[in-house]
Amino acid sequence: MSTPTIGVFALQGDVREHVRLLAELGVDAVAVRRPGELERCHAFVIPGGESTTMYKLARTFELFDPLQARIRAGMPTFGTCAGMIMLADRVQGGTADQETLGGLDITVRRNAFGRQVDSFEGELDFEGLPDRVRAIFIRAPWVESLGEGVEVLARVEAGEAAGRIVAVREGHVLATSFHPEVGGDDRIHRYFVDMVTTA
Ligand code: GLN
Repeated sequence: MSTPTIGVFALQGDVREHVRLLAELGVDAVAVRRPGELERCHAFVIPGGESTTMYKLARTFELFDPLQARIRAGMPTFGTCAGMIMLADRVQGGTADQETLGGLDITVRRNAFGRQVDSFEGELDFEGLPDRVRAIFIRAPWVESLGEGVEVLARVEAGEAAGRIVAVREGHVLATSFHPEVGGDDRIHRYFVDMVTTA
């Protein structure tokens, strides 16, 4: 593929950080709010933010169904934090009417680290990356359970949550509980761009 176009869900969340990072990696990064803008994307990123607001806005702006259809059809997609929740087939601790796009055969637990734990940082091993990753968690989910086809890429290593799964991949869908778009480390975005260019 020549330069891929990677859309970033831009109705809510930390859109700019993803667009900037992707652009620095040499892809055509575009903020997507409308179905027409999605059409020309080869791949897609759903940022951190608030998943309960995201799905409502996606419904209002009629992006929900076309986006879900593209993910089901194999478009490489990467979700961070709220984006991971949006990509999970099942959610614990969601609002009663909360919908997700799905794509990952996982159950995520929203705000899993406890409401008192607003944010924290930790170092992790990330499968496929030679050096450790500094992970920033902000009211983050974790992966409570997962299906057989889902690969675990990272787990929390220290503290009460040690062992909890915080990065997964199932074929063309990648998700992290933490925010690789914050903190100046582009390796997980690079990993995703490699997924896109080799898809
Ligand atoms: N707690 C948020 C949610 O449920 C996610 C937080 C984040 O993306 N930083 O959507």
